[in-house]
Amino acid sequence: MKNHMKIEFLSVSQNEALARISVASFISQMNPTMDELTDIKTVVSEAVTNAIIHGYEDKPDQTVLLECAMEDEQIEIIIKDNGIGMADIEQAREPLFTSKPEWERSGMGFTIMENFMDKVEIKSDEGAGTTIRMVK
Ligand code: ATP
Ligand code: MG
Repeated sequence: MKNHMKIEFLSVSQNEALARISVASFISQMNPTMDELTDIKTVVSEAVTNAIIHGYEDKPDQTVLLECAMEDEQIEIIIKDNGIGMADIEQAREPLFTSKPEWERSGMGFTIMENFMDKVEIKSDEGAGTTIRMVK
């Protein structure tokens, strides 16, 4: 089955749940297992949280874009912000690296995304924003 969805929402933490539930509802058409559903919800939550707290530094008036596509057994998820971007993507991917230790972040978001998904692509430009594309 082939299907596609796109939503935009404000950069407030309440919308992390909206994103997670929207993607879970969308992919339920593929009859995923409970484990698959849990993994997808977790990676969406990690990426959206990153967009809000890192990309937009908790500014609540910005826009996060979420796109989701399915084809046959494959699912693609894109999360995009137009925030501060990253200077060093390889460093950001490292387990335990966080630029916000004072906010009690553990630096495990990207590691979780990479473990749960088959592919995680990061495109980021300083001052322009970040796009995360994940495939499973
Ligand atoms: P955790 O996810 O465990 O709470 P974290 O968010 O710091 O901690 P990661 O999700 O792995 O860890 O992200 C690593 C680092 O990459 C972040 O600390 C931040 O510096 C940078 N980063 C991640 N996403 C973005 C983004 N959308 N925009 C700008 N910087 C980002
Ligand atoms: Mg994170």
